[in-house]
Amino acid sequence: MKSKIWLSSPHMSGNELPYIQDAFDSNWVAPLGPNVNGFEKDLQAYIKEDRHVAALASGTSALHLSLILLDVKQGDEVICQSKTFSASANPIVYQGATPVFVDSERDTWNICPIQLEIAIKDRIEKGTKPKAIIAVHLYGMPYKVDEVNAVASKYNIAVIEDSAESLGSYYKGKNCGTFGDFSVLSFNGNKIITTSGGGALVTKTIELKEKAIFLATQARDNAPHYLHSQIGYNYRMSNIVAGIGRGQMTVLDSHVEKRRSNYKFYVESFKNNAKIVFLKEPENYISNRWLSCILLDTKETREGLRLALEQENIESRPLWKPMHQQPVFKKYPSYLNGVSDDLFEKGLCLPSGSNLTDQELERVITTVNNYFRTC
Ligand SMILES: *Cc1c(COP(=O)(O)O)cnc(C)c1O
Repeated sequence: MKSKIWLSSPHMSGNELPYIQDAFDSNWVAPLGPNVNGFEKDLQAYIKEDRHVAALASGTSALHLSLILLDVKQGDEVICQSKTFSASANPIVYQGATPVFVDSERDTWNICPIQLEIAIKDRIEKGTKPKAIIAVHLYGMPYKVDEVNAVASKYNIAVIEDSAESLGSYYKGKNCGTFGDFSVLSFNGNKIITTSGGGALVTKTIELKEKAIFLATQARDNAPHYLHSQIGYNYRMSNIVAGIGRGQMTVLDSHVEKRRSNYKFYVESFKNNAKIVFLKEPENYISNRWLSCILLDTKETREGLRLALEQENIESRPLWKPMHQQPVFKKYPSYLNGVSDDLFEKGLCLPSGSNLTDQELERVITTVNNYFRTC
């Protein structure tokens, strides 16, 4: 069996270990400590805008806390981009609220501003104004920030920016992770940088960051005994995990560079294959190219290629199956234009890790080319 080529695997630099060693040496083996504070500072410095960062157990917990901070509760509705990973939508249901799914546009594959406004108007007409909009920069490609924000502010609805896949991406010169009322980062094992598991909530004020940390550490009121006046969560990041994060921050830009160069290599290698189409960056958009994605001419070609890669022990994956098609979310309202369904049928994510070797990339190219020679 040939060695496995992964879609996106963890990529340690070696710079992580001294921070972990420090945590052991100083006995900060707890969900707080110098690495947690240091990682938050590093992230704040990286995204530059005047934002505050709370390090948490996962991107999912960051999304959940953002909904709680926006007072989303039972009976409320929250709009969510349909084409995304389920973690974008799950926390809406944790709160007992109703997700309302909105389809994508073709230029970025992300939430369609036109469908968004149609959905908002219709929900208001039906008697419930949505409390928040969850927009996602899929695969590192920024969504149409100005257009989405314009609709959101027209109806005075908060935006939660799911930036889990887009640390190191830019829109009009500004970092993704700075465009929402709340923004969410993820450091899961397959993301652009990883802490094994982890996430962060980005807020506009220090007060909201502190409120998030209060909720993430069991909502303990100020008293000598344990006193609780609201429901808390155990969502804070461990000081060990944060040490990995500090080390990973030293290689974030080089990871982005490598992922972008993987993408360029695929574009160059398949430029004479009319059946393979790429998503280009619109002007003033810079994607970290977290995953290199292609569109094929039909679902059959896509599945054939996926199986051909699997035969060679190369992992690839269809684009996210939209939430409105998921058995668990089917019963919720959705506003559709066919784009995300079409992308799901024809799209495939290729191996994209920042640790891919030239030989591994060549193996992918050869397998794809062989498939098209024989199909
Ligand atoms: C990974 C991911 C999340 C969840 O992050 P975790 O850290 O795995 O909880 C949320 N949204 C999107 C779009 C993701 O890709």
